[in-house]
Amino acid sequence: MNSDLYSLINHAHHLYLQNFPPTTCFERAVFFSWGCTIGDCGFCYMSTQPAGKKPTETKRSTESILAEFILAKNLGWEIGFFTGGIGVFTPNEMEALLKAILEITSEKIWLSIGPISPPLLPRYLPYIKGVVGSTETINPELHKIVCPSKPLKPYERMFAAATELGLKRAMTFIVGMGEQKEDLILLQNFITRYSIDKIHIYGLVPHPGTVFEQAPIPSKEEQAWWIAQLRIAFPTLDIQCGVWEDRIGNVSLLLKAGANSISKFRATALFGTPLAQELERQAALAGRKFRGTLTLLPALDWDGEIEKLSFSGELKEKIQGKLYEYITKMQRNKPISLPQTI
Ligand code: SF4
Repeated sequence: MNSDLYSLINHAHHLYLQNFPPTTCFERAVFFSWGCTIGDCGFCYMSTQPAGKKPTETKRSTESILAEFILAKNLGWEIGFFTGGIGVFTPNEMEALLKAILEITSEKIWLSIGPISPPLLPRYLPYIKGVVGSTETINPELHKIVCPSKPLKPYERMFAAATELGLKRAMTFIVGMGEQKEDLILLQNFITRYSIDKIHIYGLVPHPGTVFEQAPIPSKEEQAWWIAQLRIAFPTLDIQCGVWEDRIGNVSLLLKAGANSISKFRATALFGTPLAQELERQAALAGRKFRGTLTLLPALDWDGEIEKLSFSGELKEKIQGKLYEYITKMQRNKPISLPQTI
């Protein structure tokens, strides 16, 4: 690491500790579909789904979604956001789901379902703490290329309406799609203009079948640079870093650069594996206490967790089936070796 980046990260690290406790956690993004009516964002695995499949037929079952929320709550995972393809659920379906989720979490969640039209926001208001704009990049030219059918303007309208309703605002940013360091000023201006409370800084994952399939993976120094710059410019901004499992060894640097939390890790598929252990160790290396667990299943009365909910007996039974399916898989996870880069 060059000395400029070293100084930048040190500065960001001190600012983080002045504004936040020395802790971190895993944030789960709970998905409700694997298809999307937009479907052409260049980096997104949903752009590779078979064209013949209607996005509304790619919904995950209600019991599977709700079981995941029960799991997340009891393992101490924060909810990064509830998300999925745009236009997959009707507003009525979304509202019903959000109501059920709130009963489980007892806490309002972040919602990321594309640019929600301002008249619709009040319907979701009782169940959500804020809206996430999947903005991905603020460079206008790059944005047109990577998100040809997902312009920024509707997100800007959503942020303005959310502010009036007292909802928090979050955005996403993917490092490695072609942005330049000079674009930092555009990002800072956008954060200031919409009083953004939280940003998710991901590193590009070159998914097979996407236009970025052959693209290089951004280095930990590149991702850390963006995080550190934002920590310095916005000392109290909530910054989440997203890491895929090939980059677990990057986590301590990203936390030192000023990230609050970690996401993108396939927490159920990799629960309890050496990769999950390494993620928790990386937090410790950065001097952070890891809240929640990715490695130890608590001895809990899972049936009791379901029983106390007000849902119909039929739904509870289905949730129970799904929850035990997840738990059984997590208990059986085979050790997965660590990448050589760690
Ligand atoms: S709108 Fe979101 S879910 Fe749909 S293709 Fe683009 S990034 Fe993927």
